[in-house]
Amino acid sequence: MGVPLNQMVRVGAYVVRQHLAGRRRYPLVLMLEPLFRCNLACAGCGKIDYPAAILNQRLSPEECFAAVEECGAPVVAIAGGEPLLHKELPEIAEGILARGKFVYLCTNALLMEKRLDRFRPHKNFAFDVHLDGDQEMHDRSVCQEGVYERAVAAIKAAKAKGFRVCINTTLFDGADPARVADFLDEVKKIGLDGVMISPGYAYERAPDQQHFLNRRKAKELFREIFRRGRGKGWKFNQSALFLDFLAGNQRYRCTPWGKPTRNVFGWQRPCYLLGEGYARTFRELMETTDWDRYGTGNYEKCADCMVHSGYEATAVSDAVAHPLKALRVALRGPRTEGEMAEEIPLENQRPAERVFSRHVEQAMARLAAGKKLADAAD
Ligand code: SF4
Repeated sequence: MGVPLNQMVRVGAYVVRQHLAGRRRYPLVLMLEPLFRCNLACAGCGKIDYPAAILNQRLSPEECFAAVEECGAPVVAIAGGEPLLHKELPEIAEGILARGKFVYLCTNALLMEKRLDRFRPHKNFAFDVHLDGDQEMHDRSVCQEGVYERAVAAIKAAKAKGFRVCINTTLFDGADPARVADFLDEVKKIGLDGVMISPGYAYERAPDQQHFLNRRKAKELFREIFRRGRGKGWKFNQSALFLDFLAGNQRYRCTPWGKPTRNVFGWQRPCYLLGEGYARTFRELMETTDWDRYGTGNYEKCADCMVHSGYEATAVSDAVAHPLKALRVALRGPRTEGEMAEEIPLENQRPAERVFSRHVEQAMARLAAGKKLADAAD
């Protein structure tokens, strides 16, 4: 496993406390996006298609700390955009660590080596580097040559300075399982602390709409990859049941509140992947979002989603409810043969709503009036 023991114990205790308190919905990981600006424009990314005035917005350290305290999740993933473009990021990371949280700093690593001296190794802090496969796969995915090489150099430099470093790998249609398996063997040699792997979410604003995986193809791909990984000791920092879900063996419903997102617009409804509206406070997000309108089977935009943002929290809750099942899967690894779990029917899902343009117009009007984007909910 790529999850450190102290994190497993603390998060496990937190989850048990939530269950004992009878809380039906609770956050596990806060997705904190202090900016949307990025120094790459990846083909499968739907996060950065905003006017410059919005891309120039930043969350201040105080806003980040308020979000961390309001939410209460034990883990904070700092994402974006490219977080290392935010000048106050070292201060933000330190402040979150000081609040007793586990911090994952998601980065494309282009600036990582240059900025390493502004961070300090800590047992609860990890860089989480975006790496979508070997050199050719990754450079194609980020639409720029040389990025893989710089990312690997930055990972090695960070490891040499004593940092924990994980990678975040997104797979798309056409990924070759043998090649992905070779890639996982290669990164293991670098001594990575963990790999987080998922199929890409079909962002409606992503420039390339042709290469997102549907659910069936994603499950077959993951079975092929996991089959090649038997006995190799790949370190995933995801729960065993989530990996089993990727391999088609669990019929999970999405729990989008497990990874709530705070960005420059406020608290995003319903999840990290979909911006269908925003709340001013975390409490308002939890209490006023109509959660039943989302998830596979409920909403067209969720039909093919199998991303950890929605399903890792489901897997963790399942592990708490069925510890023996979780232990069995952890010991034998994801099942790669036999029938897959029944798929959720899509007949009754509601059609996709096109909200992006309205949302951007409202945001631009707020900025023109000198207001903060997060001051108004919708
Ligand atoms: S299935 Fe869940 S995580 Fe995926 S897009 Fe829909 S609400 Fe978000």
